[in-house]
This record gives sequence, C-alpha cells and structure tokens, in this order.
Amino acid sequence: MRRLTGLPTRFAIAISTACLLAACSDRPVPADRDQSPVASTLVALVGGTLIDGTGGAPVNDAVVLIDGDRIQCAGSSSDCGVADSARLIDVSGRWITPGIVDAHVHYDQTAWGDGRPDALDVRSLYPFEAVEFRQRTMPERYFRAYLCSGVTATFDVGGFPWTWTLRERVRGDTFAPHVAVAGPFISHVSPPKWVLPAERRVIELNDEESGRAGVRYLAANHTDAVKVWFLKPSAEMREQLDARLYAVGDEARTYGVQMLVHATTLREAKVALRAGARVLVHSVQDEAVDEEFIGLLTDPAREVIYMPTLVVRSGYVKMYESVLTGEPPPEVDDPNRCVDQDTLAKIAQSAESGQFGRFDRERLDAYADRAAKAYELMVGNLMAVHEAGATIAMGTDAGNPLTVTGPSIHAEMEAMQAAGMPAMDVIAAATLNGARAMQRESEIGTVEAGKIADLLVLGADPSQDVANFRQLEAVVRGGRFHTQVSLQRPERGVD
Ligand SMILES: [Zn+2]
Repeated sequence: MRRLTGLPTRFAIAISTACLLAACSDRPVPADRDQSPVASTLVALVGGTLIDGTGGAPVNDAVVLIDGDRIQCAGSSSDCGVADSARLIDVSGRWITPGIVDAHVHYDQTAWGDGRPDALDVRSLYPFEAVEFRQRTMPERYFRAYLCSGVTATFDVGGFPWTWTLRERVRGDTFAPHVAVAGPFISHVSPPKWVLPAERRVIELNDEESGRAGVRYLAANHTDAVKVWFLKPSAEMREQLDARLYAVGDEARTYGVQMLVHATTLREAKVALRAGARVLVHSVQDEAVDEEFIGLLTDPAREVIYMPTLVVRSGYVKMYESVLTGEPPPEVDDPNRCVDQDTLAKIAQSAESGQFGRFDRERLDAYADRAAKAYELMVGNLMAVHEAGATIAMGTDAGNPLTVTGPSIHAEMEAMQAAGMPAMDVIAAATLNGARAMQRESEIGTVEAGKIADLLVLGADPSQDVANFRQLEAVVRGGRFHTQVSLQRPERGVD
C-alpha cells in the first residue's frame, strides 16, 4: 500500500513539517536550512485540478509526478501512472498551476522613495549608497516574499551592474525564484540622482557608437537582455534618437541578445519594434494603438511580447498623496503576509516625509489626472492588442514606490482581468509568456514533463477568477515543497 498523505484540515497544516521533495534529494541546499530525510524522491500530487499553463482546458483528478527537481509527468490519472514507490499527496479540492513569473521587476529598488531619489529625495535620511548596499547584500527577503506570493521566476529588467550577480546567487536555491537580469539600461536620459561614485544604472546613449559600446559591455557580462529606456525625445532630437536605437538594436542582434524597450508613447513604441525590440516592457499610454502598431506587434517574424504594467503608476500617486497630506498611505495589499517589515515601515514613513515632497495639491491632482487618463488608454490598448492575438506577459515593475515585491502580482493580474482578459489568458500571461520573455520557456512556465517542478497549490479556482491566486496554500520550487505559511514574514526582526 502506498501511503497517502491526507489533508484532514487545512492543507498547509497537514504538510507543514514534512520534507517532501527536493530537500530530500542530493542537490545542494544552503547549509543553514533545515533538511529532514525521507525515503523516496518521487512524489505525486493527486486528485487536484491541473491548469498546466499551456492554455489547455483544466484537467480534473490530475496527477503531477515529480522526481527530484523535475516534473516527470503531468496530466490525467490515466496519462500518468504512479509508481508504488511514489509518495502521494492528496490535493483533491485544490488547483495546481505553474509558478507565477513576474517578468518586470527591479531588485535594486525598494518599493519606496529611498530607492528612487528622483521620485522622492530622502537621501538625507537614507543615503543612496547605503540603500544600494543593502539591496545588494540582503535580497533574501525579496526571494522569500516572491515565493510567499507564488512567484517562482523573476525578470529584472534594469538596474545596477550588481543585479547580474543575483543569477548565480539563486542557482540551485529552492528558497528563491529564478532570476534573469538585464543589467544597466541604455538611455539618453540619466537621472543624476541615480549615479553612485563607482556605479551607475544607466549607460549613456550619447550617439550611435556609445549605444553599440553599451551593448558590447552588456553582452560581455552575459546579460539576459539589452534594456533601452527610450523616453519620449524632444521633437528636434527624434531622428537622432531613432538612429541611436536602431544602432543598439543592430548591435544586440549581432551579439544575439534580445532587446527590451521602455517606450510608452505610440511613436517611440513603433520605432522600438522596427529597431528589433523583442519585449515592450510597458503599455503604450499616450494614445490608442493603431493598425500599424498592431501589425508590427503581431508580426510572427518578430515574436514580440507586450507587458501592460497597468498598476505601477498608482503606487506613485499613493506615495505622493501620503507625503502631501501626512495621512498614511492605504494599507499594502499583502493578503498572505509576504512583505518584510522594513519595507512596510518605509512605506508608512511616507506620511512623515512632507519636507521631501515635490508636489502641491494642484500639481499632484494634475499628476493623478494624467495617470488616470493613461490608465484608460492602457486598458483599451491592452484589449486591442489582446484581441489582435499579441503575446502578453504579466509584469508588475516591482521595486517602484508602493509596488511591493511579491504580492503586487495580485493587483496586476486582477487589473488585466478587469480590463477584459479572460482569466485563462491572464494565467498564460503570468506563467508561460513570462517565461518566454525570460527566454526560459524550455525549463519553466508550464506544468509539463521535463520542466523544472515549479508549481502552486491553490484553494480556489483561478480559471474562474485570478483573484483566487490569493488562496495560495503551497509552493513547489525546484521540487522543494513549501507551505505558504512557512514563507510568511517573521513576526518580528529583520529577515
Ligand atoms: Zn521597470
């Protein structure tokens, strides 16, 4: 008789002390982390409903067979025979999905003004060099917050050169998400407040050759992407900047590195696509997209990915509102206790930061008004490109003020659904398509045989409503089983 791990009460409680999967394999696990031995590395999740991320219909009474860090079989119970040696985990009444991919994050930003002195200059309280030292040396709280929220892979699309080192740091670590990194981004705009004495976020795009040199530097660092911050140029600079972006795109092609472009204006987004952008990391938000744009975006030869990032701007509005009024910002939407205390304390400090504010009431209202108008355009554009068949990936832009690492995925996915995307399409955007943006779809993004065992166990059906990703009960990362409760922030102290 095979042993069935029952779930008499709450799933999380039933398996809270069990070491079930990769922790029991012979793969290295950080020494300070608990491992308990079990007999077999073969584990079968049985009885749940599988949404595998490929876009296919949910499979009832599914089996997901996991061997070490890999999925051996995923499908109906007739597709996947379970060996006698497998340990069974009963997930009946629950849903299994791939781990979420947040395809637009910034590990060098803090979710408050201390990481963005250009937005809220609190450097007299929190010197930027010290903030960045902490970002670099203590990413574990973010790794935990990601897994705690169901995010098993992240794409850092621009930051200080040290962000590349996170890739090595998480390799083989089943307590961290996968990390792909773009490194410093190329731009004609370089905010002086971002510059540290020996480090910079921006490679200055002063001419075509500096753009090409930037690509060569990024390629030499084995970057996962070349990111261009293509802010709207002045009318007289347009042609020059177009030429510089074409040069960057050309050099990136030469070196075989994908190009990501921040271009939030329709004209610049089209230039980006013509220059060879593979990913647009934001919505077009200055006007409605047109046929020409949609034609470029959905051209099968280009395989472009569109990331709406609908919610990030609202975080700025909330922070500025709190700074201006002295009222605390709205409570952080963190249904599963994932965000670390330090980040929460910083966000709350907005209300005491009046002396650092840069808005009066009239200017802030105008800013909020522009954000609201942009939101309407983003929603309309998302549905236009979705209906045209564009590939859409979910990204939060986490690290920006009040866009917290981890649970920000909920607001973003729910906003995509509210815009009109069916839940199953939002799920594909937040799993397989994010993996495509990272160029890791052969390894992650779906629950399929051969892929890395990154998956979620949910207590409610996400194909009916993506808000059910809030009902997270367990996270499997690289075959290691984590109860959601075990990933929550510590009651006190710094993690
Ligand atoms: Zn960003």
